[in-house]
Amino acid sequence: MLSNAEHALPTALIVDDDYVMRMLERETLAQFGFDVLEAADGEQALDMLDDPPPDLLLLDVEMPGIDGFEVCRRLRQRWDMARVPVIVVTGMDDLASINQAYESGANDFVAKPINWPILGHRARYVLRSAQAARQLSELKEKQAAIMRAIPDMIFVMDWQGTYLDYKQGYATTAFVSANELLGKNMAAVLPADVAMPIQQGIELALLRGHLQTVLYKLPMPDGSHYYEARIAPNGVDKVVIVVRDITTQKLNEDKIRRLAYFDTLTGMPNRQNFLERLDHELLRARRNHHQVALLFLDLDGFKRINDTLGHSAGDYLLQAVADRMKEKLRAGDFVARPALDESGLHFARLGGDEFTVVLPDVDETQTVSMVATRLQALLARPFLIGTQEITVTSSIGIALFPADGDDAATLLKHADTAMYHAKDQGRNNWQLYHQSLTTQTTARMALESDIRKGLERDEFRLLYQPQVSAADGTIVGIEALIRWQHPQHGMVSPAQFIPVAEESGLIVPMGEWVLNAACRQLLEWQQRGVCTARVAVNVSARQLRSPSFLDRVAAIIAETGISAEQLELELTESILMDPESRQVQGLYRLRALGVHFAIDDFGTGYSSLSYIKRFPIGMLKIDQSFVRGLPDGANDAGIATAIIAMARSLDLDVIAEGVETRQQCEFLQQAKCPKLQGYLFSRPLPPDEVEILLRRGSIPLPGDHTTSQTLSGRACNPQ
Ligand code: C2E
Ligand code: CA
Ligand code: CA
Repeated sequence: MLSNAEHALPTALIVDDDYVMRMLERETLAQFGFDVLEAADGEQALDMLDDPPPDLLLLDVEMPGIDGFEVCRRLRQRWDMARVPVIVVTGMDDLASINQAYESGANDFVAKPINWPILGHRARYVLRSAQAARQLSELKEKQAAIMRAIPDMIFVMDWQGTYLDYKQGYATTAFVSANELLGKNMAAVLPADVAMPIQQGIELALLRGHLQTVLYKLPMPDGSHYYEARIAPNGVDKVVIVVRDITTQKLNEDKIRRLAYFDTLTGMPNRQNFLERLDHELLRARRNHHQVALLFLDLDGFKRINDTLGHSAGDYLLQAVADRMKEKLRAGDFVARPALDESGLHFARLGGDEFTVVLPDVDETQTVSMVATRLQALLARPFLIGTQEITVTSSIGIALFPADGDDAATLLKHADTAMYHAKDQGRNNWQLYHQSLTTQTTARMALESDIRKGLERDEFRLLYQPQVSAADGTIVGIEALIRWQHPQHGMVSPAQFIPVAEESGLIVPMGEWVLNAACRQLLEWQQRGVCTARVAVNVSARQLRSPSFLDRVAAIIAETGISAEQLELELTESILMDPESRQVQGLYRLRALGVHFAIDDFGTGYSSLSYIKRFPIGMLKIDQSFVRGLPDGANDAGIATAIIAMARSLDLDVIAEGVETRQQCEFLQQAKCPKLQGYLFSRPLPPDEVEILLRRGSIPLPGDHTTSQTLSGRACNPQ
């Protein structure tokens, strides 16, 4: 690119057969700063082109041999000489030869007689303009190469958006082909929602003289394509627009965003997304003095559905719930402002079966309670999963900004607390957060640490409640029921601490203590010759799920040396819905040792009766809620009778618990319920008191005066 002229003096080759002319020309050009070479004819001139190549030729036309026109023509055929400026010296001042000079490739001409000072200026000018032309063409070539290498589409447009020039990028999918574009206005080619922002970008680029970027989307045969247009001002009334197809990048970005910010199962915003956006929304609400409501929704008994129908059914249900919520919230069925933005801050899935709904600008709590009620009604409509119809209820906790919290995290925590309160209130309802709930939570935590201490300090005791034969009042077993001998609060009922123990996991060590205590008591009675029949011990679901539990049972039996036949474990109905094979196997192992199993509170759960056969269950305990309504409650009577009949057909033993009245007892006797338990026969008693009953062996049934009441020293006959 650098010419000789930039290093040293430019070289001029003078070609003339006339020696005098050559001399005069040399003098002139040397004065104008040229290094001069001479050739006496065309042949010689062509031979001299290489060493060193001249920067300018001054070429006489009339020469013997090859004339000046021919020299010029041949010179131009060489690629490296194509641009060397040539001035032709004509003797003929006629138009024809001037024409011929240009046609053979000359850049300029001078006619004889020569005006010498002008020749010098001309030579300089021709050289300069040739250099400029060469630089320009090199620049153009470079530009063309760059353009070819650019994957983008490039447009030149005027300020009104008319296409002036166009280049298709090799990697950019064109919306309209080039020949359809030129001369047209963008507004006639692109959809209005794309043309408009580009037009604005053009105007801004020209106004401010800065690069503007516009992102847009166009429908293409293979789906939507995303583009980024960079608009650069080009002069005062034109712009260059470089358009890149960013579809792949955009899709990747979207995917990453979705993964980081959206729940993959439901496509709803996730917790992170939700918290960030809620904080934003709160900032705005604070500025505008608006109230914001946060609804925290949790499905009731979702785990049970997951366990009974399988995880994929559970996932499907969550999707269906999400879809139903999205659809209604988008449609604006619940609130005036349908969504905060396209991504929908309005709802999010925090994980599991927990969803949140945000209501911005709520003027009164009534609006919130209406939304909560409608949401619950919406979800309460049955869902079809496969062929199965499922109905779910939900519990909702509500926290309000700014009253219940100043930031997203606090608000969420309080809505969560309120949701738990709704669960405590029997599920399928909504609750507003209030300060006392936090107090309750604190109280719960205090209770937890109290229970822990209670276990360490051995403050728990067992009471025993007899179970009798419905035929003759014989004591067939006793159920161990825990009590807390609290140093300050006196005797605490399990209803107060079992739920907290379950939630915190303390039920595991507590359950182990119960089992140990019951087995040791059993052993002590046996050693003193007291007939105990069977001892029933309650086992909570959480306890049963603890991996070490079943091993511990076997170990305790071995350690105490009691007969496993005398131990009955009362399991909750949920075991039937959670047939985890490891657990079922464990139960069979214990059954093989001799341990009995009963299903407690039977009839309150959701269990599929056909599952019972999969477990080594020997006994059903009819829940006291059904016994309470006997004998007049038609429903309860029906359920109790049905359970008894079903148990018989499955070859299971049955006991009715919570028998308090003579009428209940008689009804159950008539219904052929083989065993009974309840205050009518005995309350749960401390060991020394129950021992007296055990020694007697039976408890008189109402209306029965014949049953023996003494029988101390009766033969032990555990069933
Ligand atoms: P549950 O297993 O259903 O125990 C029967 C409950 O009914 C006992 O309440 C008992 O005192 C009460 N009850 C017995 N007969 C009658 C009656 O005629 N009328 C009425 N109204 N109630 C009667 P308790 O001892 O307060 O226990 C409550 C629950 O706490 C138990 O219900 C059981 O689920 C749980 N629980 C008790 N001890 C333990 C334990 O050692 N481990 C575990 N995991 N849970 C226990
Ligand atoms: Ca029980
Ligand atoms: Ca029970």
